[in-house]
Amino acid sequence: MGHWCRICGCNKPNEKFSGKGHRNHVCKHCAKTSKELIEAIDQEAEIFGFMEQSNISRKNISRLNQLIQSENPRISELASIVLEVAKVKRHKKRRLQALAKDHIDLLLKVKESGLIDADYY
Ligand SMILES: [Zn+2]
Repeated sequence: MGHWCRICGCNKPNEKFSGKGHRNHVCKHCAKTSKELIEAIDQEAEIFGFMEQSNISRKNISRLNQLIQSENPRISELASIVLEVAKVKRHKKRRLQALAKDHIDLLLKVKESGLIDADYY
């Protein structure tokens, strides 16, 4: 028999559903995938927020060190870029000038990742 998943639309054997997933009609795979997706969206917003702050705090840096371990390559990359930025210039003020002066490679990475908008230039 099995059970139907409303996310992927598949009929899967009962062992592919957790108790809660059974009631919600979401298989284990989809439950995991959508959780990761939601997490990634939140974490990306968090990282972008750090760049917007006037100062990247010590607490933010330890959070970035956590996010860099993410299995999501986009999150891990964003976190590593912002960490590098924080090493050069934790304060937002004159950050881009500081990057442009001595860290042009990093500045390019920041631009390519979308972490700053082009309006700055
Ligand atoms: Zn599914």
